[in-house]
Amino acid sequence: MYDAIVIGGGVIGGSVLREMSRYRLRVCLLEKESDVAMGASKANSGIVHAGFDAPEGSKKAKFNVLGCKMMKAYAAELGVKYAQIGSLVLAFSEEDTRTLSVLFERGKRNGVEDLRILDAETLRAIEPNVSRAAVGALYAPTAGIVCPYSLTIAAIGNAMDNGAELYTDFEVSAIARKDGVFIVTSATGERVSGKIIINCAGLGAERTARLAGDDTVRIGARRGEYILLDRESGNFVRHTIFATPTQKGKGILITPTADGNLLLGPTAEELREASTDTTAEGLARVMRSATAMCEGVPLYNAITSFAGVRAYSRDRHDFIIEESEKTEGLINVAGIESPGLTSAPAIAEYVVRELVGKRLELIEKEDFCGERKPDWFFGELDAEQKNEIIAKDPRYGKIVCRCEQITEGEIVRAVRRNPPARNIDAVKRRTRAGMGRCQGGFCQPAVAEIIAREAGIPLERVTKSGKSSYLLSGRSK
Ligand SMILES: Cc1cc2nc3c(=O)[nH]c(=O)nc-3n(C[C@H](O)[C@H](O)[C@H](O)COP(=O)(O)OP(=O)(O)OC[C@H]3O[C@@H](n4cnc5c(N)ncnc54)[C@H](O)[C@@H]3O)c2cc1C
Repeated sequence: MYDAIVIGGGVIGGSVLREMSRYRLRVCLLEKESDVAMGASKANSGIVHAGFDAPEGSKKAKFNVLGCKMMKAYAAELGVKYAQIGSLVLAFSEEDTRTLSVLFERGKRNGVEDLRILDAETLRAIEPNVSRAAVGALYAPTAGIVCPYSLTIAAIGNAMDNGAELYTDFEVSAIARKDGVFIVTSATGERVSGKIIINCAGLGAERTARLAGDDTVRIGARRGEYILLDRESGNFVRHTIFATPTQKGKGILITPTADGNLLLGPTAEELREASTDTTAEGLARVMRSATAMCEGVPLYNAITSFAGVRAYSRDRHDFIIEESEKTEGLINVAGIESPGLTSAPAIAEYVVRELVGKRLELIEKEDFCGERKPDWFFGELDAEQKNEIIAKDPRYGKIVCRCEQITEGEIVRAVRRNPPARNIDAVKRRTRAGMGRCQGGFCQPAVAEIIAREAGIPLERVTKSGKSSYLLSGRSK
């Protein structure tokens, strides 16, 4: 019997879980996939938006600006890479310039600090590769970048270190209520019960709310496709570069990622059925827009493409963050499209203090520890530090992923640390093994062997990304 059950292991569910783990509550998180951060929180732009996009007075504006202010300390506490690199919205026409003024004024009203409009000369001085056709830009120095899945993994890991429990491969398929207690059943018949539910199920939030008796949550799916470039091109731009936004969203951007790659995208395409497939047309659109924004975009350094799907509220056009009017004890945190990553720490604080706090008594734990040691990367250490670590643990002397210089020691750590990695992609998200130029072509078998050995599972049961994505069909005699 839990005090609170969180459904959905994305950045929102993870941040809410971590915030609740500060208090003397028995809490758990249910995730349908084999790992956390498998939905929108895995595949997005990783931008900490300054907060000038969202309409004044909206929940998006409020939590964006608050979250942007909180992110530096939040990421530092959780040991996650963050950099305040600033963002630039480019203008190419008089109409774009008028839009920049609207964004500037809105940003000021939303509480964004230090916004400035730059002329073409100043723009090129700080960002030499922007197109010669750009006539100016809106500069937001408070914007930043963060690794979205590392933030999610770290928040959930820290919550688990503070007593929260995680159930993966738990697809919520039925919710019953008996004597004021929710009984939640998975597709495979597992059951957990709790006093309240916090519905953070992203694209699944409409179904989850319905299962709990609330038919007012309506979620749509909008796909965004990306092209990722090698770390060699990570310095191509110094800021996050946006085109001027349209009705459909913020448009295509070019940005360095927190891990030092260069990212181009996303598109914005309404879908009837959520799909993370990439398409030739989508990727062509990304290339066209990126090359219109900057001169000499190093497309030859593309190493992979991917897509993420935004879960948005079909009727409210804002975040849904409230206790359900239909079902007592059900808190919906749904329709969290962009800027949801930026807003996550602020949303979590609000949900727990204002909504959970109305239902459960919040008594702080004396032994809560919010700090999580960073997942340091062996390849980034100096020679002396490397020698010191190898002397303590020789597994750090064995390089497994040659592209990214990831050692056996780091992979073992990923399998053992909360939340434990149990498949190849889960290791990849925690260590970067397989994220380089060869995309795992060389290191995958070695990573599979380490997972099998450390997790105590037969090698042929190790998967690429959970469920039935087995790498091997069986043993030959
Ligand atoms: C293309 C794109 C670009 C974006 N760029 C940015 C950006 O630059 N900056 C920014 O601030 N925000 C950005 N966002 C928004 C941000 O990614 C989201 O707001 C955030 O990730 C939402 O997190 P979430 O936890 O609500 O959803 P998710 O990460 O999708 O998590 C929901 C989880 O619920 C699980 N689930 C669903 N149904 C069930 C069920 N029945 N049982 C159990 N589990 C279930 C899913 O498997 C999933 O793991 C972007 C989003 C996209 C898609």
